[in-house]
Amino acid sequence: MKYLLIFGLTVAVIWLWQGKRRSALAEKTRQQQPKPPSRPRQLPTTEIVACDHCAVHLPRAEALTSGSGVYCSEAHRRQAEG
Ligand SMILES: [Zn+2]
Repeated sequence: MKYLLIFGLTVAVIWLWQGKRRSALAEKTRQQQPKPPSRPRQLPTTEIVACDHCAVHLPRAEALTSGSGVYCSEAHRRQAEG
C-alpha cells in the first residue's frame, strides 16, 4: 500500500512537471513567431494616360507620345495628326 502511494505521488509530480514544461514551451514559441509587417507592401505605381483621339485609358509605357499628344495606337496618332 505504501509503494502504491509513492508511485501515485511520483506520477502526479511528473504529470505536473510535464504540464508546466509544455506551457513554457508554448509561451516560448509564441514569442518567437515573427510579427506581421506593420505597413502594407507598396506596389509599383503606373501612370495612366488617356488617348487624345478615342480617350481610352492605358499605361504611359504603352502609349505613343508625339509632339501633339498621347495616343493608344499608331492609327489614332495618324488620324489625329491628319
Ligand atoms: Zn485611341
